[in-house]
Parts: sequence; C-alpha cells; structure tokens
Amino acid sequence: MCGIIGYIGERPACEVIVKGLRRLEYRGYDSAGIVTGDLKGLHIRKGAGRIDELVKRVDLLSMPGNRGIGHTRWATHGVPNDINAHPHSDCTGKIALVHNGIIENYEPIRRELLEKGHNFRSDTDTEVIAHLIEEELKTAGDFETALRRALTKLKGSFALGIIYADEPDRLYFVRNESPLVLGIGEGENFAASDVPAFLEYTNRVIFLDDGEYAVITKDSWEVKNLKTGERVEKGIQTIEWSLEMAEKSGYPHFMLKEIYEQPKAIKDAIYGNLELIPKVAREIAGYEKMYFVAMGTSYHAALVGKYLFQRLTKRVPVVEEASEFRYEFEDLVDDKTLVIAITQSGETADTLAAMKLAKSKDAKVLAIVNVVGSMATRIADITLYTHAGPEIGVAATKTYTTQLVILTLLAIEIARILKTAEKEFLDLLEKELNNVPDIVSSILELNEGIRELAENLKEKRDVFYIGRGIGVPTALEGALKLKEISYIHAEGLSAGELKHGPLALLEEGVPLVAVAPPGKTLNKLIGNIEEAKARGARTIVVGSSEELKRVADTLIAMPPVEELLSPIPYVIPLQLIAYHLAVLRGNDPDKPRNLAKSVTVE
Ligand code: GLU
Repeated sequence: MCGIIGYIGERPACEVIVKGLRRLEYRGYDSAGIVTGDLKGLHIRKGAGRIDELVKRVDLLSMPGNRGIGHTRWATHGVPNDINAHPHSDCTGKIALVHNGIIENYEPIRRELLEKGHNFRSDTDTEVIAHLIEEELKTAGDFETALRRALTKLKGSFALGIIYADEPDRLYFVRNESPLVLGIGEGENFAASDVPAFLEYTNRVIFLDDGEYAVITKDSWEVKNLKTGERVEKGIQTIEWSLEMAEKSGYPHFMLKEIYEQPKAIKDAIYGNLELIPKVAREIAGYEKMYFVAMGTSYHAALVGKYLFQRLTKRVPVVEEASEFRYEFEDLVDDKTLVIAITQSGETADTLAAMKLAKSKDAKVLAIVNVVGSMATRIADITLYTHAGPEIGVAATKTYTTQLVILTLLAIEIARILKTAEKEFLDLLEKELNNVPDIVSSILELNEGIRELAENLKEKRDVFYIGRGIGVPTALEGALKLKEISYIHAEGLSAGELKHGPLALLEEGVPLVAVAPPGKTLNKLIGNIEEAKARGARTIVVGSSEELKRVADTLIAMPPVEELLSPIPYVIPLQLIAYHLAVLRGNDPDKPRNLAKSVTVE
C-alpha cells in the first residue's frame, strides 16, 4: 500500500504533488519521491523519510515543470532507503515511473533484462517495469504500444504512474488490482491512489477498473483497455465527500474500511511472501523448540499458529504472552530455540523485550510484522511482512488475518520440508488459501444482516464466544474485538470449559456466539451449544454445516472452507458484529477509550 499522485496543467507540478503526498500521508509510508518533466527532460528527487524532511533534504518544492508524478512508498521489495524510493527509471533516464503493489514475476523478468544488458540500481520489484518498457520500445513503433506490451507481461498488483521524456504533453496511469482514480479539472488533470490527494482542486473523478490505463494531457483524458488498446467509455462522477470522508474512501470509519480491505490485504500477504516463505522455512525447519510470543490480537494469531504447526508439522510450539515470556521462560531459551514474535506495529514494548531476551540467549528470532522498518524488524534475525498496508483503526482487523496467512504458509512449507503431512493435503491447502480472498469477499456481503443482528444485541451486558480446536482462538478474538470497541463484557473460551464454571453465568437471553467450522470436534461443539441453549442462551452460530440450523437461533452461514484455513474467514463476521455494536452504542470504533494502536509501554 502506498500513495500515487500525478499532475499535468499550468501550475508548478511539484507544489500540487507535495500537497497531494501530504494528503496521502495518513496511509503511512517510509519514503517518497517525485519526478517532474519539462522541455529539458525528467527531474527526479527522492529519498527515505517523511515528506516534510524530504522537502528540506532534497528540495522537493523547487522542481521545474508543469507535469509530474509523486509517490509515497510502503516497501515490499527492498529496504526503505534513498535508492529504493520511487520514482524508478530505465537505463536511458527517459522513462520514469512510480508503482503501488507487487510484481509477482519480477525475478524472471529481471534476469532476462540483465542478460540483455540492462543496469539495475534498486532492489525493488518496480524497477523491472521501467526497463521492460525500454526494451519493448526498441521494437514497438511508439511509446504507448511499448507500454502495453510491457505491462501485459506483468503478473501481480500494480497501480502505475508513468512519464516519458519524449512526450512532453502527457502522463500515463495504469490500474490492476491497486486503486487509481483520475481527477478531471479545467485545463489541468490529476491522478491518484485516493481522492483526498487532489480533492482540493477538483471533485470530478473517474475510477479506473482493473486492466485499464489512462492517458492524460492538460486538456484531455482517455481510458483504454490494457490488452486491446481500445478506448473504454467512462463516466465522470462527482464526489460529495468531505476531505475526512475521502480519507476513509467514503466509509464512516477506518475500521470498516480496513475490514473491507481484507480480501486485497490477504492477497498481498500471500503474493508478497511467495518467494520468501520457502527460504525462511528452510532456515527454521530444524528447530524443535519453538516459542510464539505476542500480545493482544497478535497473541490470538499465535494461538492459531499453534494449531497449524501442531497439525501440519507435528511440532508443538509454546505460545506465550510476550509480557510473561520474558520473566517465566528466561532460563529455558538457548541457541537451539526459535522465537517467532508477532506484532502489528513492530513497536509493542513487551514483544520487543521478549525478542531482546531471546537474542541475548542466542535464540533465532523471526518477526511477523506489518510496519516496515519498525523496531522489531531491526531486532529480528528474519522478518516476514504482513503487507496489510497501514492500519489506522485501533482494533486490529486486516493485520490479524494477514498474520494468519503468514503462519499458514509457514506451517505448510515446513510440513513439506519435514514431510509431516500428506503432500496432496498440503497442495490442497495452498490452493484453497488462494481462494480465501474471494471467500472473504463473499462473507463481507453478509454485512447488512450482521448489522441487523447487532441491533438486537446492543442492550446486552455480556456476550460469550465459544469454539473448539482451531476455532478457540477465533472465539477469543471475537470477544476481544467486542470488549475493545463496544465496551460490552465478553468472554471467549473453549466450549469444553463451559460446564466447568461459565455455564453458571448463562441466563435467559444471554448471547452465545459459537465459532463452528467443519472439523473433527464439530459434533461435540453442537452438543455444547445445545447445553447453553437449554439454559436460555440466545445462540448465534457461525458455520456451514446443515446441522447447525437445529441449534442456532441465528445462523451466520459461511461458505465451505477447509478447517485449518477457517480462522481467516470465520473472524470476519465477528469483526463486523463488534464494529456495528460499537457504532450502535455511540462509540468511535477507530479510537476506543483507554487504548492505543502501538502499545509502546510495558
Ligand atoms: N513493491 C514496490 C516497492 O516495494 C511498491 C510498494 C508500494 O506499494 O509502495 O517498492
């Protein structure tokens, strides 16, 4: 996730672009850069750091030219530094571009281009695009044809802004699975990842669809199909959003926006790690002694990881809250220990302390982190990024499901190395994981029904969440979300525990949410739901089995999914329940009382 802003018109381009970059800053980023064009050619200034620092350090506000493109980077390939910052250019320096997304097949393309004599400067996946266009330009009659030929060779997600020195009247913008919107002005035109970047100048917009590109000049715009080059008819829409609404892409809260971003985030987590996972798995497969340390929602991800590792790798990791780990496990950690630390922000004080302790005992430390370049990534021996993009809502949603993606991929890969699970089963899991983004999209369609359900729950004082096996962490996470933002008391527990105490709390009408994916304990869970129902509980069941209809007062019907993958889709309705209850009770779900996004104190 990053931000792109492009401008062509009469104004000094750098001024419009710097403003746009500031407007995109809420998306969070690690570096930025701008390319502008005038009759002398292209001018690029870029670097690591925040926009205000770069304005001073590389003088972003004194760049010549009335057309240009800016970028804020959220690194996926290559560390955040001056060289890896966008824009990137080809060998001739005549083509420059910025990119939001991930090019999945950049390695083979890069190898091929290296053989043809191209010089690469950065470690990014993005740079191959500039060289690929340069290469195609050698045989294509014109730049646009070269561009189309090059881009149809790319796999992955990309929104691009492209400028060519020899065409001083135009800019190109491309969209494939990363957002891009045009802003239509009078004698000037804009393009950006997100409307707020140019909302100050125009509210007339055209949303590009996947597989489309736009050619804009100061007085005209044209949208075409990337494959055929044919013109696509597009209508201009007028945006009535305030700036604040626009930052949330029209959603009332960041949390809801982030819940809806999950299909894309999950995809990015899969594809952004495709190459790394086998390498990392080889490096850690030898460790028999494993600790997963984390706090809060990340701790629940660690618990899911435990089930995945147990089932697939036949190894039993110890899952411990980071705040406990550093005191209770101090003497048990040694150089034969692997510690997997999971933290969204990479700044969670307890988790950092646990990681430092592990390092001081020569343990191997792997971090699963969302925020690029954060402290955890500096302490860890190895980092895997969740690639969820900035998460602004305090209650974690997309960073949780992407943590689960990484743990699933790791467990599958280690099981392949150790041969601890049937190859066919592992292949099936991997294949089905690729369908999870679509499964999640279909669950998001249940949103309105879930909002109505929340209407009926808003006066409740307590809610219970139960599950069994790999459903237990989902129940815990559902309860945590509810507590965090709706301030309703909630308890998550393994269903088997119900009759050892908590059943005493069930009285007429108390809601009980059961996480009921398919699996070997489903029948047992149905029994537990019945027990609760017999004591008057109002049962809300999340699952796909027909039998659940018998025990559910409300059934949240899920599409079928393999049990080990169920924690990803099954948490979505629980996130939505918590969100709607928070809103219905008049709370701001983005800023729950007493809580902070990064818990930097112990
Ligand atoms: N994959 C590109 C990079 O790492 C773009 C990341 C982004 O979307 O900012 O540079």
